[in-house]
Amino acid sequence: MATMLTVLGGSAASVGTGQGCSGYLVSTETCNVVLDLGPDTLLELRKHTDFRALGAVVLSHLHVDHMLDIVALRFSLAYNPIEPDRRTPLWVPPGGLEFFDKVGEVFSSDFEPDDFFAKVFEINEYDPDGSLQLGDLVVSFAPTVHFVPCWAIRVHPMGDGGDLLYTADTGPSADLRDFAHGSRIVIAEASTPTAERDIMPFVSRGHLTAVEAAELARNAGAAILTLTHMFEENDPTIALAEAATVFDGEIVHAQPGARITWS
Ligand SMILES: [Zn+2]
Ligand SMILES: [Zn+2]
Repeated sequence: MATMLTVLGGSAASVGTGQGCSGYLVSTETCNVVLDLGPDTLLELRKHTDFRALGAVVLSHLHVDHMLDIVALRFSLAYNPIEPDRRTPLWVPPGGLEFFDKVGEVFSSDFEPDDFFAKVFEINEYDPDGSLQLGDLVVSFAPTVHFVPCWAIRVHPMGDGGDLLYTADTGPSADLRDFAHGSRIVIAEASTPTAERDIMPFVSRGHLTAVEAAELARNAGAAILTLTHMFEENDPTIALAEAATVFDGEIVHAQPGARITWS
């Protein structure tokens, strides 16, 4: 059975010219799961699937570049003339319920604050030590090193097709090697230009270089590396070339609509 990754956006913490921030759609024949939904990714999502029928949305962390279009999706689910026939499962990291309560309080007008998101989302915090069965996908988590609590996400499709590993936002001191081991597709962030690598101490840096991203994919034994979370102002072609010095497999630049299918 085939699994498909569709990139919804791959820009770092600023939308680019023509592309939004983090968002990834993982699809099987029976299930669509979205990992992160940053600014300007709902528009891309609509090109590929019905936003009313998502199996789930899972958020790696609560930085705006990974979750802002949850607010846009909330309005689409609430007001689009074609109404959803059920609420959309929304899995948020620990602390996410309180976070979305506060956001709902700011935006609510016609609704009680605690109904703002709950009207359209079945919203729950995931346990990062556990896993989620989302249709025919099993999702698990590992903590990253970032400026707020953040979790890398591994997606295991039922069957033998191979797993997808998404680093979310992370510095190089996160211990993701075991978590990533054996994954077939690695979506790795590469926000840090190599020249800026040493501006922050290794242990507290919250983003990877392209070489560090490529090392993670190589050590995992992955076939495909998708490089993401890059500012266009930093010229992603440099990062792609640097990654290619380390990783022998296929390297894909995460841009809206980029697709990888595997089985
Ligand atoms: Zn972040
Ligand atoms: Zn980010």
